[in-house]
Amino acid sequence: MIADYLTRNSIAYSYEATAMTNDWFIFKSKISRPDFFLPQFKLVIEYWGLVDSPDAQLREEYIRSMKWKMAQYRKNNIRFVSIYPSNHSNLDYYFRRKFREAMGFELPILPVNRTCPTCHIQVLDVPLHIKWHSSVAQT
Ligand SMILES: [Zn+2]
Repeated sequence: MIADYLTRNSIAYSYEATAMTNDWFIFKSKISRPDFFLPQFKLVIEYWGLVDSPDAQLREEYIRSMKWKMAQYRKNNIRFVSIYPSNHSNLDYYFRRKFREAMGFELPILPVNRTCPTCHIQVLDVPLHIKWHSSVAQT
């Protein structure tokens, strides 16, 4: 969901950032890797998927490790954005707001023209355009 969102908005990211530099060694060794890393902004996105877990014990452990991880980020001056399951209803709104809070500026809107591989026209919203192709193909 977050990956789709980033792709749709032409935001480059690495997933479970494996290509991190030495600055990030503490994460490689001690903390599970951040979910998403935006190299352009040096910003981490964590999706805290289990904070609403119905399993009380699991939830408690999860929240404890979440808080610990957040503290590590703060201690190391690593900017991060937290996304919770409840944010999915309006991911764009929450992500932009949290991005602004973390970075101090608005998420740049980057309209990128790309060429459709099928019809070779310039399109702005590639996923939408491809969806359109498949809907046409089905009729
Ligand atoms: Zn096309």
